[in-house]
Amino acid sequence: MGIHDLQPGETSRCLSCREDAVTLQNVRGRTFDLRDEDDLVFDEDLKIPACGNCGEIDVRGAALRRFSGVLERLHAARKREAIESFVAVIDSEFADVPRQSWEDMLGISHGYLSRLQKGTRNLSTPLEVLMRGVAQEPTQALRFIAHSRRLPSALAEYLGKRPRRPVG
Ligand SMILES: [Zn+2]
Repeated sequence: MGIHDLQPGETSRCLSCREDAVTLQNVRGRTFDLRDEDDLVFDEDLKIPACGNCGEIDVRGAALRRFSGVLERLHAARKREAIESFVAVIDSEFADVPRQSWEDMLGISHGYLSRLQKGTRNLSTPLEVLMRGVAQEPTQALRFIAHSRRLPSALAEYLGKRPRRPVG
């Protein structure tokens, strides 16, 4: 029985590890990496041939299109979440800092943040790394950025109010 004609309850030989351990498995809840995003949690029911020994999956045709479609959606959602959490932090914690100052610091053109939010620009990996850093650890991220960019005065003041080490 070929791996691609597999029916529920049947097993087939794995093309990767040669074990007779491939069965149709629901990949809901499994994690997959796609390009620059790791551990995307598959959130739909989809049964595809998967090896119980080595974990290799083998999917093609309509199932592959569906599988890829779900991962692309999860990938886009992960990027969107990075943008949203960054904007939430700069709008709440740094309400007195103009967005253009952030754009200057991040080395992106004015208006780029709103284009990212609207989805008319894709969030690059390095920019995502920086934005996640700011969203999660604003103080440390700003100190890091300050090694290469001049901070807008409002942000420099923000850092100035926070001691570098606990004083005591
Ligand atoms: Zn295998």
